Order: sequence, then C-alpha cells, then structure tokens
Amino acid sequence: MAKRDFYDVLGVSRGASEADIKKAYRRLARKLHPDVNPGAKGAQARFQEVQEAYEVLKDPEKRRAYDRFGHAGPPPPFEAAGPAGAAYPGFGGAGQPFEGFQFEGDLGDLFGNIFGGRARSGPERGSDAQGTIEIPFHDAVLGGTASLSLRRERVCERCGGTGRVGKSVCPVCRGTGRTAEAETVRIKIPEGTEDGGSIRVPGKGQPGLDGGPTGDLFVTVRVTPHPYFERRGDDIYGVVPVTTKEAYAGAEIDVPTIHGTLRARIPPGTRGQKLRLRGKGVRNPRTGQTGDHIYTIRVVVPRNVTPAGLDAATLLDSLYDEDVRKDLPRGL
Ligand SMILES: [Zn+2]
Repeated sequence: MAKRDFYDVLGVSRGASEADIKKAYRRLARKLHPDVNPGAKGAQARFQEVQEAYEVLKDPEKRRAYDRFGHAGPPPPFEAAGPAGAAYPGFGGAGQPFEGFQFEGDLGDLFGNIFGGRARSGPERGSDAQGTIEIPFHDAVLGGTASLSLRRERVCERCGGTGRVGKSVCPVCRGTGRTAEAETVRIKIPEGTEDGGSIRVPGKGQPGLDGGPTGDLFVTVRVTPHPYFERRGDDIYGVVPVTTKEAYAGAEIDVPTIHGTLRARIPPGTRGQKLRLRGKGVRNPRTGQTGDHIYTIRVVVPRNVTPAGLDAATLLDSLYDEDVRKDLPRGL
C-alpha cells in the first residue's frame, strides 16, 4: 500500500501552523493510543502512522524536507558548480537524513511517561537555526551567492562554556556559557534553486552542549519573480510577439531564454500555440535534468489602420475556412 501523505494522516492542511499540527496530533493520539484501544482493529497501525507523521511535521526542518522531497527524504548530498565553481553542501547532509522515529516528549506528557523518560547527559548537538533570504531570479536559476546577517550564539571563549572562571561567575557571559554575536553568513545558491526551497549551511546553527557539534542553519529561499520569464518546475515560460506576416508565412525569430537569445523557426500558420525549445530551461542538479523553454506566440496586428491595411486584412479574412470561435462554449 502506498504510504499516505503525512498531512492527510493528521487531517491538516499543508499550510497548517505548528500549533494546529500539535493539536491534531494530540487529538488523534488520545483517540488511537493502544492503551486506550486495547485490541481495537487497525488502531495500532493507525496510531503508528500518526506518530510517524507527527515526528516529521512537528520539526520545521524535517517538515521542509518532507514538503520538498516527500516520503523519499532528501537525496544524498550533491556537488553543484556555482558561478564561483565552489561546492554546495547538499541538503540533508551526510549521516543525518530523517532520523529514526522515537517516542518521546509529547506522548510522555499525555500518558504519564509510559515510554520512559528522556533524560539526556553528555554532549548534545546544538539546535538548528532558521533564516530567510530573498534572491534574484537570475541567481536562483543559474546559481550565485547571498549573505544573511543573523545573531549567533557561540560558546563563551573566556570560560569555554562552563559559565565559571575559577570559583566565580564568568564575567563575559555572566554564567550562561554563551555569547551572542552578529554574523554575516555567506550562502552558496546552487543552480536551479526553487522559490520556497531550503538551503542547509552546516555548522552555522547554535553551539552544542558539553562539546557536542554545532547545529546547522536552514535558509528558506524566496525568489524575486522575473518581469518576463516565468518558472514552473524546471521549465521557463515566455511570450514572443510576432507580426501577422511572420505568423502567417512562418519566420525565423529571436526568442529570449535564460541562456540568452536563441534563433527559432516558427512554422507557417502559427497561431497562439506554445512552442518548445528543449533543454533550454533550468538545469536541476538534483535530477541532472534540464527543463525546456516554452514560449507562446502572440500575433500582433499593426496599430496603424489604413485603407490599404484594411484591404489586406479583408483579403486575409476571406482565407479563414472556419469560424475562429467555433470551439468556444455557449455559456456556463
Ligand atoms: Zn563565559
């Protein structure tokens, strides 16, 4: 059986807030918990399904990965040659794709810790930080760099994170073991980055505890729309005006694409159809595929209306062998 969509499992919309997700989960967990439904058929499986969905959707980082990659999870890290030729640290880095699902936390609250506590000791990984950047269409499509200013915590250098110097409270961090500093993080934008996509910057999250590794920074990317090009998936769309004669007789025309202007041949009798330039869209480093450039022909008639022009238009009109609006609906 195909795995169900996690949002469907919890009965929430894709835009649901964290609070809504938690509420939906708690409601379902109470209803379906095996201790509440001993022997109820299917409840156990449904409970596990709910549990698994919640483990992913409650975590902004896992949720984003799920939104982007679905059940398959993030692909292995890839190397994308940006304009500077630098390697891009792939999303969902080595060794930590979706972690195993564990019972912890919220269920413990609900059911009196029946799954055991979650006391931790020893080194612990720092939490991940989040950020958002807006980048130009050009950089999203072809790759580039951006920078993000954020306040980052660091382990206090004076006390090494212990909060104490000798027998007194550390004067630098005042005992917290942390200092916060403004930092500008440079972010490599891989070629083919999508609006709403997420870029992982390793080691730019919060510092770990007891010498644990630093968390990562996850940057949500917003792409400024382009005034002409429109992107859908890996394809790029545009509109190309042509003259009446070019459309009627066929012509070779200039078509702007994200890879520069290309010459393309439109056939005689071209109407408003969409024409395709294969492989002239966005290169997607994840799939290794390149999308197409799809352009719609728009026939533009002259602005000047003259007697000679009207004669020519009348002559053209006499050539239609059918009603140009014959396929339109008559109403709703
Ligand atoms: Zn300190």
